Amino acid sequence: MNDIGVFSNPCALCKKREATKLCDYIVRYDNSIIFFRNSKLFQEVNSPGYKHETCDLPMCDNCAKKVGHQVDFCSHHYKLHIQVELPKELQRYQRKAKAEMYENAIRGEKNE
Ligand SMILES: [Zn+2]
Ligand SMILES: [Zn+2]
Repeated sequence: MNDIGVFSNPCALCKKREATKLCDYIVRYDNSIIFFRNSKLFQEVNSPGYKHETCDLPMCDNCAKKVGHQVDFCSHHYKLHIQVELPKELQRYQRKAKAEMYENAIRGEKNE
């Protein structure tokens, strides 16, 4: 086992390896999401790290839970991330609402 002092930036979870990543889980949303008709601008301004505060817990490759392209969560937030998914019986309402929002967004763009 390595001495923690070996690393200037040890992993907060195992404390055995050097931290190479930061947890990307958003812990605080800066106001509400800003909506743009332009989806490219929307994604840029509302992307994690642009305006929201992320967890930023330092962790090593082994401890980080990869959840998407360049998105890693610490073990604590990974558990929450799994719970974020709605139960099956609620998911169809969610899908319906999302489909309507998407259609409205497209209609809005066409009317420009
Ligand atoms: Zn670790
Ligand atoms: Zn975290």
